[in-house]
Amino acid sequence: MNSNFSRTLVTTALPYANGPVHLGHLAGVYLPADIYVRFKRMKGENIIHVGGSDEHGVPITITADREGITPRDVVDRYHRQNMDAFERCGISFDYYGRTSSKVHFDTAQEFFRDINGKGIFVKKKESHFFDPETKRFLSDRYVTGTCPVCNYPEANGDQCEACGTHLSPRELINPKSKLSDESPELRETLHWYFPLGRFQDRLENYVDSHVGDWRANVLNYTGTWLKQGLNDRAITRDLHWGIPVPVEGDEAKGKVLYVWFDAVLGYISFTREWAEKQGAPDLWREYWQSSDCRIVNFIGKDNVVFHTLMFPAILMAWNEGRTSGIYSLADNVPASEFMNFEGRKFSKSRNYAVYLGEFLDKFPADTLRYSIAMNYPENKDSDFSWFDFQNRTNGELADTLGNFIKRSVDFTNAKFEGEIPYECTEEDWAAPGIDWTASFEKLDQAYEQFHFREAAALTMQIARSANRFLTESEPWKVLKTDRQAAARAVALSVNLCYTLALAWYPVIPHTSNRIYAMLGFEESLDDAIKNGTVSWNMARFPQLHKGHKLCRKSEILFAKIEDGDIAPELEKIERLLEEVKRKEEEEANEETEVRPEISFDDFLKVDLRVATVIACEKVKKTDKLLKLRLKVGSESRQVLAGIAQSYSPDSIIGKNVILVANLAERKIRGELSQGMILAVEGNDGMLNLVEVSGSGVNGKNVQ
Ligand SMILES: [Zn+2]
Repeated sequence: MNSNFSRTLVTTALPYANGPVHLGHLAGVYLPADIYVRFKRMKGENIIHVGGSDEHGVPITITADREGITPRDVVDRYHRQNMDAFERCGISFDYYGRTSSKVHFDTAQEFFRDINGKGIFVKKKESHFFDPETKRFLSDRYVTGTCPVCNYPEANGDQCEACGTHLSPRELINPKSKLSDESPELRETLHWYFPLGRFQDRLENYVDSHVGDWRANVLNYTGTWLKQGLNDRAITRDLHWGIPVPVEGDEAKGKVLYVWFDAVLGYISFTREWAEKQGAPDLWREYWQSSDCRIVNFIGKDNVVFHTLMFPAILMAWNEGRTSGIYSLADNVPASEFMNFEGRKFSKSRNYAVYLGEFLDKFPADTLRYSIAMNYPENKDSDFSWFDFQNRTNGELADTLGNFIKRSVDFTNAKFEGEIPYECTEEDWAAPGIDWTASFEKLDQAYEQFHFREAAALTMQIARSANRFLTESEPWKVLKTDRQAAARAVALSVNLCYTLALAWYPVIPHTSNRIYAMLGFEESLDDAIKNGTVSWNMARFPQLHKGHKLCRKSEILFAKIEDGDIAPELEKIERLLEEVKRKEEEEANEETEVRPEISFDDFLKVDLRVATVIACEKVKKTDKLLKLRLKVGSESRQVLAGIAQSYSPDSIIGKNVILVANLAERKIRGELSQGMILAVEGNDGMLNLVEVSGSGVNGKNVQ
């Protein structure tokens, strides 16, 4: 890592403007980024944080169709809602834009034109599903049908919700258009592809240069893709909502840029818009096109390859053949794991979530920020639970931090007319038992290396030491016999309040501002940091001198959370969980419902044979699929089966299984599948192959 950067640009994954952000999003991306940015601002560094709404893509048009409104209505609603929730939570963006802006259209089209002009894109004619009724090409999400792997009847064209297999619409059995319910027909259409493989070597070099400073999860996900070899990726779609493909003539008519190509460029567009707002339209170049600027992309683990491979490849394509106007690649891509909610994954589609805006209607932002920081899913999935939230708020924020601040300020106000009665010496400053140098070295490192849970825990340790110091020095008792000793304890305590106001600022800025005001400062702490009167290093030394006057008022910083406050939330979870379970059971019951009657002749049409597995391997780039080589009598067949999570390839070689031998061949993930083998799903979700024992059964009919 080059430590000589003089500027930092922080970007956060663009929330999709098709729904409200939930606590999982906050924990994975926005809060860690904000904590980092606030810390850096206090260090006096030049840093900006840009983010904004991702406003394109098919799910938005699906929401619009469903609600009978326009896609514009959908994105307007969620852009405002999410921006408002972020603001209330104290996520301090320097700029929060949207990908439907003119500047973004210009930026994305400029990139497309440049790369297209260099002949880098590959154009391919392909057959895609077309809905003759509505006269529209159907993108993956607009096609539904039966999953070829698990037979779930309502699989989406891009993925089966039931078994998780990634699909393409043409793999579906009995595909239907979601727009008209009609069977779609295949029509030829032209699309532009980005040849990721062309950049394989350069991307490998880029990733290799960050081994050691990138997180293990980021290197792992990226490494898996690189090992498999990078393929062409489509970057255009037949759709009306999005950024038109900037190519003259008929061939690009009705086509827009695919959202993965356009969304990542949003970071650049928003920095441009920020610069314009500063009255310095070229200032963005100092962040994107200068080797002096460190770029950090905060993302969730589901977005890794978009940021470590695809976005860098787009920038490399732009940079190709250029001597100036060269874009820098990200120096770090801190991807979080997921934060679960009460032991279960957040799921928007199952409505199993707590939305940020709703949360902030009931509880203060800082209690949430603290609780999430202490559960930051840095290198493994973590969990948010209401009991943990209640315990941390009451035991740590209220009883430790809040209690210490209030006691210190109240006692100074009551017994010393709100004035610091003593000048702390260096020796005094060691009295609370805090190793200032070591603590702040650790804190600095924790923030610099994105260990935010550690940073919050270290800061709470300082608060504990301060609280213990005040309790043990008992100035309220000592005052009667030794006013000087009481004065010293008070001066130290109030200075510790100041230290804590500063040290907590990255994590709980609202509270820091309130403490700072109680200490007698008229200017807000935010402003004091902005104009440089206050900086991070001031937290390490006593700053309030003898005679400094407090504001003479104090407030309770954290209200305790009573059982009654979280009872409705716990009830809500129970309801949500019941609903999730009900849905899961419904899906299970659908399977046990006997299918419509068929004639005996129909049954005889199905040719079931005993087949022996003679070879087996995993299908690349899938989690669920195994490729089996079967011996059926004198014949050999290749069959794909979605059983990779239940069986390892080696464990099924030699098994006698039942093959549906006269099923039409089809392609799954580009591989031919000649039939289907029978399996039963257990309650644990594992698949069990139907096996035949006995010898000499291979190739025989099952009857
Ligand atoms: Zn499936």
